[in-house]
Amino acid sequence: MKKVDLSFQSCISEYQESKVVIFSAPLDATTSYRPGTRFAGNHIRIDSIGIEWYSPYFDKSLKDYHTCDIGDLVIPMGDVEGALDVIYQTTKQLIKDKKIPMMIGGEHLVTYPVVKALLEKHQDLHIIHLDAHTDLRDEFLGMKLSHATVIRRCYEAGAKVFSFGIRSGDKDEFLWAKEHIYLRKFDLETLEDIILDINDKPVYITIDLDILDPGVFPGTGTPEPGGIQYKELLEAIDAFKGLNKIVGADIVELNPLLDPSGASTMAAIKTLRELILLLHS
Ligand code: MN
Ligand code: MN
Repeated sequence: MKKVDLSFQSCISEYQESKVVIFSAPLDATTSYRPGTRFAGNHIRIDSIGIEWYSPYFDKSLKDYHTCDIGDLVIPMGDVEGALDVIYQTTKQLIKDKKIPMMIGGEHLVTYPVVKALLEKHQDLHIIHLDAHTDLRDEFLGMKLSHATVIRRCYEAGAKVFSFGIRSGDKDEFLWAKEHIYLRKFDLETLEDIILDINDKPVYITIDLDILDPGVFPGTGTPEPGGIQYKELLEAIDAFKGLNKIVGADIVELNPLLDPSGASTMAAIKTLRELILLLHS
């Protein structure tokens, strides 16, 4: 694995010395409404020059840790399964090298191959899923592999799923959720209880940034009014410190083209900074 010239903020350490490895998965093949998430990784990298290394929330600085950024994966556009395989193989390699993957989407489907690879190492993998959408359809527009089915596929692969902030989906998805997963509608109020329950089990955190209210985060393909504020997302990341074994994380569904102000990209960047610091703790 080779680090790239354009990196996220100060994450310029060599691969060998890094505990956390950032990569972006520029896939937006199945986005149902407004595509463009493939540009998220590099927009995040370019604009990350505008933030501080130091997080006053966590009283920690990116420059105190070794983090490597291996850049945008080269994926075959138009070949969804081929693209997912590139992400899967990359994650397998990172796990083999004892690195913690920190992925930037891409559409939410990119989470599936990472979870699949992690499940081969951690059979009791738990997923904490923050999202406006259920993403629990069995199929969407005839496709089994879609950003609207991704969490269902992760569950079928063997992960235990805990969803929060959900405010959109088909009625059948909510009924299915009752039988199979934990789902908290609209907010994050029960997150700390769930974290206590999960305790020292391996956890993957997937943050679909459209959990944020479109007033905070308009740069996404399927915005849903009624979302959480950035401060609530920060509080969630702070609560994640109660987890003892976080084995990876992602942020997905930023579409930088849809918010020329750059504010959505900045929300993603600050979320990413806090997550990297979390993964190092
Ligand atoms: Mn969503
Ligand atoms: Mn999603």
